[in-house]
Amino acid sequence: MVIIMDVNAPQSDVDKVKVKIAAVGCKPHLIYGAQKLAIGLTGPTTGVDEEEFKLMDSVQEVLRVSKKYKLVSREVKQEDTVIKVNGSTMGGKELCIIAGPCSIESRDQVFEIAGQLNELGVKFFRAGAYKPRTSPYAFQGLKEKGLEYLAEIKKEYGMTIVTEAKDSETLPIVAEISDVIQIGARNMQNYSLLEKVGSYQNPILLKRGMAASIEDLLMSAEYIVAQGNFNVILCERGIRTFETYTRNTLDLNAVPVIKKHSHLPIFVDPSHGIGIWDKVPAMSMASVAAGADGLIIEVHHKPEEALSDGYQSLTPKTFKKLLEKLQQLAPIVDKEVALNKKESIA
Ligand code: PEP
Ligand code: MN
Repeated sequence: MVIIMDVNAPQSDVDKVKVKIAAVGCKPHLIYGAQKLAIGLTGPTTGVDEEEFKLMDSVQEVLRVSKKYKLVSREVKQEDTVIKVNGSTMGGKELCIIAGPCSIESRDQVFEIAGQLNELGVKFFRAGAYKPRTSPYAFQGLKEKGLEYLAEIKKEYGMTIVTEAKDSETLPIVAEISDVIQIGARNMQNYSLLEKVGSYQNPILLKRGMAASIEDLLMSAEYIVAQGNFNVILCERGIRTFETYTRNTLDLNAVPVIKKHSHLPIFVDPSHGIGIWDKVPAMSMASVAAGADGLIIEVHHKPEEALSDGYQSLTPKTFKKLLEKLQQLAPIVDKEVALNKKESIA
């Protein structure tokens, strides 16, 4: 259920509605739009009498939400959610570009790549410190040491850091260093981890599970938002299908479908989506054409020596070429590639 009020309603009217929501055993979630304030109710709403709320001051409408997911749905909030982080926006006009290696392998490696990406004007740096690998014998990441390097990169280049929280134990230190917390495909349905990140205010980049439906992804986002963190970015990263010529099947259908059903930003990870470096530019362009709000792309200065996902990583040189193409494409879909020093790309 959602209660629609005027965005300029007196605070005392809003407070009365909140008190009444608590009195019927539910929890209020305030979602401010440009014209309207939507108050989403979670909890046992079935027996709640809508009429009682309709009679309250400044209440314009009371709606039942037909979808299973509530707070992330467009029924509750019509306008796109735009998330602000370190002077950038995610989900608005800016086409966000997150780039970096799959894993942090050494201080030299991560500084080399971050330095080159910084030169290209990239604002968001990705690199995994805790790697959830399919094989227990594969490189698991540099862990705390890796986070220290990310903190140094943030200080040195002012880049916005995106890194994965693999479990509840390490979430607090990841949240301290990372501006945006990534929840990986393998953890999309780790509901206790989702609830925990919901109690932080860092934006959360929630990747779609490899066998998860669009609805499953939206339900997972709902777990985070229901805890009070509305700063969720959804990320399509490819799903498992019968196809064997590519690592995954990048489901670009998800982009316009999610745009219709949810107000949250939707990003695409073409690197994991196709898994083959020289096909990553084509799928990046296709993602933007489909309406993606941002891209997360793996870049490594020596892909052949990478400890994880080298085969799907662009080099800074091939990545630069892609950026140039994206800059041409973005205006067609009413976006602008968000880079620091645009003149360095020309
Ligand atoms: C990654 O971003 O390196 C990663 C492990 O992604 P995913 O969770 O989508 O597999
Ligand atoms: Mn990877």
